[in-house]
Amino acid sequence: MTDMLTVEAARTAVLERIHALGDEQVPLADALDRHLANDVAAIADNPPHDNSAMDGYAVRFADTATASGSTPIRLQVIEDIPAGTVPQRKVSTGQASRIMTGAPVPEGADTVIRVEDTRSEDDWVEILEPEDGVGENIRGQGDDMKSGEVLLRAGDLVGPGEIGVLATAQHANLTVTRRPTIAILSSGDELVEVGEPLGPGQIINSNTPALAAMARACGAEPVVLPVARDTEEAIRASIVSALSCDFIVSSGGVSVGEYDYVKKVLTDLGAEQVLWRVAMKPGKPLFFCLLQETPYFGLPGNPVSSLVSFLQFVRPAIRKASGLAASQWELPTTVAYMEHDVDNRGDRRSFLRARLAWDNQGRLQASTAHRAQGSHMITSMLGANGFVVLAPEERVAVGGAVTVQIVADLGSAAAG
Ligand code: AMP
Ligand code: MG
Repeated sequence: MTDMLTVEAARTAVLERIHALGDEQVPLADALDRHLANDVAAIADNPPHDNSAMDGYAVRFADTATASGSTPIRLQVIEDIPAGTVPQRKVSTGQASRIMTGAPVPEGADTVIRVEDTRSEDDWVEILEPEDGVGENIRGQGDDMKSGEVLLRAGDLVGPGEIGVLATAQHANLTVTRRPTIAILSSGDELVEVGEPLGPGQIINSNTPALAAMARACGAEPVVLPVARDTEEAIRASIVSALSCDFIVSSGGVSVGEYDYVKKVLTDLGAEQVLWRVAMKPGKPLFFCLLQETPYFGLPGNPVSSLVSFLQFVRPAIRKASGLAASQWELPTTVAYMEHDVDNRGDRRSFLRARLAWDNQGRLQASTAHRAQGSHMITSMLGANGFVVLAPEERVAVGGAVTVQIVADLGSAAAG
């Protein structure tokens, strides 16, 4: 279709106009789910000193090599070393120090014997079994990380494990990329906010809460605006009020209907139109422009269309703006095997809401049969953790391979 862009061309046109936002400092405790602005290196070795991996006795291995239950080796205990203290005495031949897990290994000792392999009385210990070799049960300084070692790269996502690494590496504060703020604007005379009674001819504004949640799930900060009624003045006022945000996302009002004023208002405001209409189903009436340099996504009003379009275009923009590497902007794609026949009779690429799950041979199975697939059928999103992506005219029989995009965690769910 000559008047529609392909999904790739549209995504490229959008992403060319998105720039990484600045950085900000956050305390480590607030760094979860943020992306690092810079490479991060260890400030010191971890462990900071050789230390014991066991409660036991620090010894010279050579002293204990021949120990057994019937011929124990008797050593003089010269010191107790609890964790958090510094050993004061050197271990010489015939000697041992009682040591706790995590405590620094004393000079002279090269091995720790587990307490279970000893018998002790007063200031003597009998070694009943030698360790396998020199160095056993000692955790070496810098085993885990070396001072100056780069541990994380710019753009990396901070999860709970990374918080532990960053704490160990002594980063109390971190520079992370700024989360884009996204104004969420729904327009339509028929819309009523959730919780309000439905009058004749009205429907619930489900797009605003769903798009705000989508923005949050993609790492952005939604700024929810009140519904704009279908007048040029109301839409203009709402759009202008959104200009303080990094992105503006609206839903509805971009089709060719009598009251679809969004495009006209944007044009009157001097927006630079980048694209309108994408060869995809659902989601054809997508409008994207720059309004005073602010990226503006005019998503279709149909609930499923708005969410699918968000994932195909707004999510990559959020990720680029958040400083992620280009390979991470788009939804991950893989191959799955259909649990039933599917076809795409149209001339647009189709994104079917799918449930993806592993079968017992470790193959990813896809089903789109959980609910009906109309673009107004929000229930098609229930439990959908991916999209089956079909080219125009593509048909796939049960068992056949299809391209899928992974939207949410595949978890350990088994195929039904
Ligand atoms: P429009 O693009 O404004 O013509 O809207 C297309 C369809 O999506 C219509 O059926 C609208 O009622 C519906 N719609 C528009 N905005 C919303 C919204 N915020 N929540 C739910 N449905 C909507
Ligand atoms: Mg409308």
